[in-house]
Amino acid sequence: MQIRKTKIKDNKKVLIQTPHEESLLNSEKLYFPVTSGRCPVGAPCVEEGDHIKVGQLIGVREGAFFDQQIRSSVSGKVVKSEKKVDQTGKLVNCIVIENDCKYEVYNPGFERSDEEIEKLTQEEVVDIIRDSGLVGLGGAAFPSYIKLGTKEEIKVVVANGAECEPFLISDWKFMYENPSDVINGLKIVMRAVNAPEGVIAVKKKNKHLIAKLEEELLNHSDANIRVAKIKDFYPAGWEIQTVKLATGITVPQGTILAESGVLNFNTTTLGSLYQAVKYGRPLIERYFTISGDGIKNTTFRVRLGTPVRELIEKAGGYLDPEIPKTLVLGGPMMGVNTTNDDIVITDTTTSLLVFNRPIDIVEDPCILCASCIDVCPVGIDPVLIMKAQRARDKDELLKLDVNKCIECGLCSYICPSKIPLTEEIRKAKRTVSR
Ligand code: SF4
Ligand code: SF4
Repeated sequence: MQIRKTKIKDNKKVLIQTPHEESLLNSEKLYFPVTSGRCPVGAPCVEEGDHIKVGQLIGVREGAFFDQQIRSSVSGKVVKSEKKVDQTGKLVNCIVIENDCKYEVYNPGFERSDEEIEKLTQEEVVDIIRDSGLVGLGGAAFPSYIKLGTKEEIKVVVANGAECEPFLISDWKFMYENPSDVINGLKIVMRAVNAPEGVIAVKKKNKHLIAKLEEELLNHSDANIRVAKIKDFYPAGWEIQTVKLATGITVPQGTILAESGVLNFNTTTLGSLYQAVKYGRPLIERYFTISGDGIKNTTFRVRLGTPVRELIEKAGGYLDPEIPKTLVLGGPMMGVNTTNDDIVITDTTTSLLVFNRPIDIVEDPCILCASCIDVCPVGIDPVLIMKAQRARDKDELLKLDVNKCIECGLCSYICPSKIPLTEEIRKAKRTVSR
């Protein structure tokens, strides 16, 4: 089946050229959701009044077959819990730490030597990463320790730096600022799973970044790692697509990558993995971008738990406040709309898009142009799924393989009738799961 390769305007050039705000905010209170999209259950392991240090365990989230530790990004006192909006756009319970601005570290001075790192077994790396609470930072939020624990024979580890969605530049920033962390993280994974090859996948248009990574690789001639310059289309960053473009390996959809001898990690995740192994440092900071025509476009380095309203204020507030805004958490293709900007930064919060236009788009009838079918990267039929969903026909939805949808957003993007196909397909997935 031939799928149309779709190029979409990504608006990244200007964002990349704008220097990021380096100074971290000293927010008075930091908020840590006790649940996440993948972990619907969670609980704090601290109580009001407890004194907490940077990197200390404060709670645990629980998913279907895994858990995720929650660690504080500041030192200070635990105060009464509050509800805030997390990266899924939902209002969730948060552990709240009143920042004492001393930033006392939980395990000061901890460092493993390179020799110690080289001797770590796969099980030891898995334990370190589980303790750090690291999940896939490209948005998937899948726990990294589960991937790392694979018992399959791995031929190649892919560092996925494709960062496909328009407006998102946090992986680009991280790779550009920290190329050695990305490569060191990749080497740790390769050693842990005994993989003979590593590939860093970056879109070929990112020439400066590729040069930076290749220059850094000269310091790692002991490792069999190369940069794969992949084509610029959407969704080249979908892991099955990235693996195919970077290694030539075809992974059948619905199977686990490791069964095809491949592991795929987002590049920022690998950098954070290195920090956890080398310095025992969990992820406590990330890059976050505020973008769109309704705000001054700014990228920040932020502590997890920072209220986004403080960042909006730091960026100068909303532009044209009299014009209604559309807010999108994440990228415009896969992100979620929200009407509440009382959002907090979590490990997977990449950006907030602020557009000067109302959300009430009027839908026209389907003109049977088949564009949505042509662009779908997994080869399903979005228009038939939409019709079956609107008819609540569960059997038909299953026949149409609705669960293959990766929610890339392309069908909605391409539809001339402005039918919210992706949203209907999300609903359809919920219909078949009941
Ligand atoms: S959102 Fe789903 S159905 Fe639509 S194009 Fe992407 S994968 Fe296909
Ligand atoms: S792209 Fe829109 S108008 Fe064209 S077939 Fe699909 S749903 Fe219908």
